[in-house]
Amino acid sequence: MSVEQYLIKVQPYYRTVGNEVELYEAAYSARMPVMLKGPTGCGKSRFVEYMAWKLKKPLITVACNEDMTASDLVGRFLLDASGTKWHDGPLTVAARSGAICYLDEIVEARQDTTVVIHPLTDHRRQLPLEKKGELVNAHADFQIVISYNPGYQSLMKDLKQSTKQRFGAIDFDYPEAGVEAEIVMHETKVDKATAEKLVQIAHRARNLKGHGLDEGISTRLLAYAGSLIARGIDPRAACQMTLVRPITDDPDMRETLDAAVAMFFPGT
Ligand code: ADP
Repeated sequence: MSVEQYLIKVQPYYRTVGNEVELYEAAYSARMPVMLKGPTGCGKSRFVEYMAWKLKKPLITVACNEDMTASDLVGRFLLDASGTKWHDGPLTVAARSGAICYLDEIVEARQDTTVVIHPLTDHRRQLPLEKKGELVNAHADFQIVISYNPGYQSLMKDLKQSTKQRFGAIDFDYPEAGVEAEIVMHETKVDKATAEKLVQIAHRARNLKGHGLDEGISTRLLAYAGSLIARGIDPRAACQMTLVRPITDDPDMRETLDAAVAMFFPGT
């Protein structure tokens, strides 16, 4: 498999929020595994795409889930006409070829899956392919990056300390209002006044986190709202579809959020 396909050719739009670019560059240069911490839809994946582009390194992203096994990451023997043939998994491809491997929402994976990254995240930088009987020494450019949403963690589902303590971590959050409006404008071409209203609605919802909402409205959802408004959808309908309906099924909470939308976008 050619690793060329994982190179990001066009510069992704990423609005720097703090010193994250500088920190990441230094961590990459030390080949330190990095954990991007923050709520869903706040720019973690966009950031890693931007950094891969900036560093000119291929980026292999794996969306982790609870059904994922170690073989899904590492590889497995598959049957074909000529017998059994080994197929490298995405982690192995990244380790061999010197890509950045981004494990998105790693905590979703079971702990026995997570431990396969351990020998890659310490001085060994090795990946044992037990079923194949091969020990892969990671390419000098290889780096592992994981995302982690602190809001979702429970005692039952969290990374072990022995995993956490293999990473440097960078905190992410929804950007401050002016910056977030700028991002929404850039992503959707809505005007400034509309972008600012969307951000205000998000702030209302974010204040309800832990008071009936598990998670506030993400920057991603604001970009969805803007993209519908830019296509001529009535702002109230656009906000209901993208900012309210996805995040809660609770009738009272929907009413509260619909009222916030109506306040910023009174009837048309
Ligand atoms: P996650 O944190 O879940 O990985 P993403 O990186 O996919 O979130 O961000 C969701 C969306 O939010 C992006 O597609 C982009 O439109 C927008 N976004 C959030 N933060 C930024 C940022 N700093 N610069 C540019 N776009 C951003």
